[in-house]
Amino acid sequence: MRFATLNISGRALPVVMAADGMGFCPVDMLLPEFGGDMTDLIARLADPERDLPAVTTWTKLAGQRLLAPIPCPRRNIFCVGKNYHEHAREFAQSGFDTSATKGEVAPTAPVVFTKAPSTVVGDGDAVLSFSAITEQLDYEAELAVVIGKPGRGITRAAALGHVWGYTIVNDVTARDLQQRHRQWFLGKSMDTFCPMGPWIVTAAELGDPATLGVRCHVNGELRQDANTRDLIFDIPTIIETISRGMTLQPGDIIATGTPAGVGIGFSPPRFLKPGDVMTIAIDGIGTLTNTITS
Ligand code: MG
Repeated sequence: MRFATLNISGRALPVVMAADGMGFCPVDMLLPEFGGDMTDLIARLADPERDLPAVTTWTKLAGQRLLAPIPCPRRNIFCVGKNYHEHAREFAQSGFDTSATKGEVAPTAPVVFTKAPSTVVGDGDAVLSFSAITEQLDYEAELAVVIGKPGRGITRAAALGHVWGYTIVNDVTARDLQQRHRQWFLGKSMDTFCPMGPWIVTAAELGDPATLGVRCHVNGELRQDANTRDLIFDIPTIIETISRGMTLQPGDIIATGTPAGVGIGFSPPRFLKPGDVMTIAIDGIGTLTNTITS
């Protein structure tokens, strides 16, 4: 199943999306007493395929705006840095990485940081250029995991049982701020720097997340083209690592890292400017398109 959040008369409404993406059914048509947001829904439905009645009537999508599937996450978005070998190499060679031990390319343990919840925007929304603050804006296509079942001390073997679904995240980054502050939070947490969507595909529908093609085009030019089988630390390892001393909660989002082909991977680097269109596609999920605006 696919779940999205639609802006209907100013209200952020969780909906089930039809398989063709052309129709929807508000969740409160299926669960009449339900009045919550997507995070409430995730907490409520341990198994959406089993716990929701079947949709019998679809409403045609007719101009209703898609918001991010989780428009206001309760907590920061967890992110993994340098999690594809080729990208770890391009980042090390770029000179922008102030986090690595000298001479190190691939990390020996997952590199985890977060983005503020206020970074989140949906498919089709503008990403602000902040040209007075940064001259080095970059894109990062990433598969994102949405946690369903809460837990601390989750083992690798149990990890996928805690995943509710998957979506796409663009981990937009101001490279000059990332480099100057020697810490990634500021350069990755500016407003609009986390496009997410277009929807969440449930774990049962997506199947194996370890063999998904991940692609990013900028203005129609293919920049990133990889597969999640090339992750250095796979999804079970990431969940085990983050949950070791922290309880993961329903609706937590984990962006799993970006492959090679980001702007700083080019020589000279190719940074984003107003008008640039970023389109990320991940197999089995869909596409996420956002435009840089001044
Ligand atoms: Mg990233």
